Amino acid sequence: MSTSKSKYSFYESVELYFDKAASATKIDASLLEQIKACNSVYQMRFPVKIGKKIEVIEAYRVQHSHHKLPCKGGIRFSSKVNQDEVMALAALMTYKCAIVDVPFGGGKGGVKISPSKYNAAQLERITRRYTSELIKKNFIGPGLDVPAPDYGTGAREMSWILDTYATFQSSSNMVDAYGCVTGKPVGQGGIRGRTEATGLGVYYGTREACSHADDMKALGLEPGLEGKKVIVQGLGNVGYYSAKYFQEAGAIIVGIAEYDGSIYNAKGLDVEDVKKYIKRTGSIVDYPKAKMLKDKKSVLEMDCDILVPAALEQQINSGNMKGIKAKIIAEGANGPTTPEAEEYLLKKGVMILPDMYLNAGGVTVSYFEWLKNLSHVRFGRMDKRFMQSNNEELVSLVEKMTGRSLSKTERSKLKLKGPDEVDLVYSGLEETMVSAYNDIREVWKKNKKLEDLRSAAFYVALNKVAESYAMLGIFP
Ligand code: NAD
Repeated sequence: MSTSKSKYSFYESVELYFDKAASATKIDASLLEQIKACNSVYQMRFPVKIGKKIEVIEAYRVQHSHHKLPCKGGIRFSSKVNQDEVMALAALMTYKCAIVDVPFGGGKGGVKISPSKYNAAQLERITRRYTSELIKKNFIGPGLDVPAPDYGTGAREMSWILDTYATFQSSSNMVDAYGCVTGKPVGQGGIRGRTEATGLGVYYGTREACSHADDMKALGLEPGLEGKKVIVQGLGNVGYYSAKYFQEAGAIIVGIAEYDGSIYNAKGLDVEDVKKYIKRTGSIVDYPKAKMLKDKKSVLEMDCDILVPAALEQQINSGNMKGIKAKIIAEGANGPTTPEAEEYLLKKGVMILPDMYLNAGGVTVSYFEWLKNLSHVRFGRMDKRFMQSNNEELVSLVEKMTGRSLSKTERSKLKLKGPDEVDLVYSGLEETMVSAYNDIREVWKKNKKLEDLRSAAFYVALNKVAESYAMLGIFP
């Protein structure tokens, strides 16, 4: 790829990646045009009483693709929200869902506020009003459009959305109302494992990429995660859980960046300890067991093997690309690498694990949550005991035949107990991330026109979306 401009908006960069992969497919030009376009863009302004004043809030919901319904995508609360950004994020959701075989079209929402400037009651008012705007225009519903958490939102906001949506439903519509939003608290129809899902997916995906010895050799690295030096930008939901699982797998977290500063310690940081410090003091600044760097971005250019941007878009750009030392960029955030930085880093031989694949763990587990809401039964409820007693029977038969009793450790290794909901969620997520990576990698290795993993991921996604349009019989 040769980028013709030096600066692209976020949406333009998604279009650029789309075009690059599209040229390697055999998909008809009119169908490509349909896949590329955002199907519905809803821009809204609504008044909310904040203190003694009325504030007019700017917000968006974009449904990028209706090739499968419902549309699916998070809601972002940030002062930087704009239409270009929400359209880019919605488009990425379409391709992301296709890559991990989640049967949704892409969507995304954004509310242009800085959450830290409001108290909980004010945020609740804004969230509920935003939800009622979505209801009015049919932009939310279990079969229409299902939001989830994103930057600046979490389970609390999702429960306000659910409650507002449910309030507006007739009793005959209530049966599936819980499926109108995912990322809810477990007590309100959420699923165990959703909170950590995106970070856990980042870990599974990176672990899989690092398991291919020939790819690691080309980067001058050993296979596996153990001992690899990792830097993480953003210790929020995605960054914290990614860092936690990397550390548990034996990687060394050497640097962390937050909105107000960055820290580095070549010997390793304890993620839990840093998180606790931020919680206690409200800031990463002056964390005592590391070197404080001069600004929040400096750490991205420090020595490491894997760099995990997990904060915002366009963080790796023409301003810092020449200083990046990582051999692998594991995109936890959406759109963290600009096209010009990507071009430069790929030429340098850096491996970029693209956002639309790597952070798909959140939507994958959201899909499980939605299925749970529509089926009205917790995963594992029907078969847990059955499997447990079957396993016990099998073990006692083997013990009888061999004349040897299994030790406690052997029993615990065999995982005789039937699976809980969270075991099934982790297992479904791991299977999804591992098999999706290998699908993308296979295409990348086979098709000479696809020079990098992002192009290969787009190629896989475009073909899957095109296939579902083909079934409609409209396009050639
Ligand atoms: P979050 O709000 O939980 O965390 C973001 C973190 O980044 C915060 O700790 C914040 O202080 C920090 N931050 C903000 N500006 C920064 C800067 N300039 N430098 C360093 N740190 C900074 O958000 P999140 O849900 O973890 O989302 C992060 C990214 O991951 C976003 O791009 C989002 O779209 C993407 N993502 C999130 C999910 C999800 O399930 N939450 C799923 C897929 C993708």
